[in-house]
Amino acid sequence: MRIFDLMAEKGHEQIVFCREDSVGLRAIISIHDTTLGPALGGCRMWNYKSEDEALTDVLRLSRGMTYKAAIAGLNLGGGKAVIIGDPKTEKREELFRAFGIFVESLNGRYITAEDVGTSVGDMEWVRQETKHVTGLSRSLGGGGDPSPLTAIGVHSGMRACAQEVFGNDSLHGLKIAVQGLGHVGYSLIGHLAREGAQLVVADIDEQKVDRVVKEYSVETADVDNIHATEADIFAPCALGSVINDQTIDRLRCKIVAGAANNQLEDINKHGKALFEKGIVYAPDYVINAGGLINVANELQGYNREKALVEVKNIYNIVAMILNLSKKEKIPTVVASNRLAERRIEQIARIKKTWVPATTR
Ligand code: NAD
Repeated sequence: MRIFDLMAEKGHEQIVFCREDSVGLRAIISIHDTTLGPALGGCRMWNYKSEDEALTDVLRLSRGMTYKAAIAGLNLGGGKAVIIGDPKTEKREELFRAFGIFVESLNGRYITAEDVGTSVGDMEWVRQETKHVTGLSRSLGGGGDPSPLTAIGVHSGMRACAQEVFGNDSLHGLKIAVQGLGHVGYSLIGHLAREGAQLVVADIDEQKVDRVVKEYSVETADVDNIHATEADIFAPCALGSVINDQTIDRLRCKIVAGAANNQLEDINKHGKALFEKGIVYAPDYVINAGGLINVANELQGYNREKALVEVKNIYNIVAMILNLSKKEKIPTVVASNRLAERRIEQIARIKKTWVPATTR
C-alpha cells in the first residue's frame, strides 16, 4: 500500500524492483512520467543504508528528470535507476550486465546512463545486454564524458543571468566564486578565464586547487567561506544543499548559478528567500542540463555540433525563466517548474492522458 501511496503522491508511473541473487544485484528503476517520451535518467550506484532510502532517492531523482527534460525541450520523460551497493568494491561486469537485462525488459520505456557511482565503462557492460543505454564513449558512437557540455551550459546560463542583472551578458571583469573544481568546475573555470572573469575558487581537494592555480590566474578561498565571497556570481559546482539556513544570510553575490544538483536545501523556502533578497537564482536543473542534452543526442546518432547548439540554448531557457519570474513576481524555481509542467500539459492535451501531479 505504502508504495502505491508514494507513487500517487508525485505522480510516478512505474517502479521496477530488480533482483538477481547470483550476482548480488538489487536495483530499483523508477519511471516518473513518459508523456514527452521514454524516461531517460542515469543509474546511480550507492551504498544506501536501507531499501527505504534507495526508494526515496530514486523516486525523487526520477521526478527531477521529468522536469529537467521538459524544460530543456527534450522529447524525453523522467526516469532514474539505483543499484544498492558500494561502487568502490562491488562493481563487476556481471552486475551491470544483469542490470542491463532488466533495462532491456522495459523495451525502451526507460533509457539508462551513468550517474554518481557509475561510469562510461559500466555503461559499456550494460550495452552488451540492451541498446537502451546512453553516455557511451565516443568510440562506441556516444558523446563521452558529459561534463564539458554541462560546463558550457552553465556558462551560457550564467551569461543570461548577467544580462538580466547587469544589462550585459559579458562576464568579462565580473567576480565569480566557484565552489568545486571537479569535472564540471574545472571545465567551467577554463571558459570563465578565457572570457576575462575575475575568479575565486575553492575545493576540499588541494590537488584540484593547485592545478587551477597553476593554469589560470585565480584567487583561492577557504572551503567554508567560498559562498560568502563578495562577488557578482556564486557558482556552486560541488555538493547539494549548499543554500541552506546557515549559508543564505552569508551570501554576498547578486547571482547564484552553478552545476551542482539540488543546490537549495528546501526548494520552496530557500527559493523564496533568494527571490526576496533580490539574488537571481538560475534553477540548478535548468542550468546543468547540458549533460542530459548531450546524452539525449546519442539517441539520434551523436552529433557534437548539434549537441553544442542545443546546450548553448540554455541561455534562452534561463532568460525565459527569469522573465516569467520578474513578470509574475515568483521565485525562479517556481517559474521553471511552471514552464516545465505547462509543456508536459500541452503535449498531454494532444495525447489526452496527463493531469499535472500538482493538481491531482
Ligand atoms: P566531481 O565529483 O568531479 O567534482 C566535485 C568537486 O567538488 C570535487 O573536486 C570535490 O573535491 C569538490 N567538493 C566536494 N565537497 C566540497 C566542498 N565542501 N567544498 C568545495 N569543494 C568540494 O563532480 P562533477 O561531475 O564536477 O559535478 C559537480 C556537481 O554538478 C555535482 O553536484 C553533480 O551532481 C552536478 N552535475 C554534474 C553533471 C556532469 O555532467 N558531470 C551534470 C549535471 C549536474
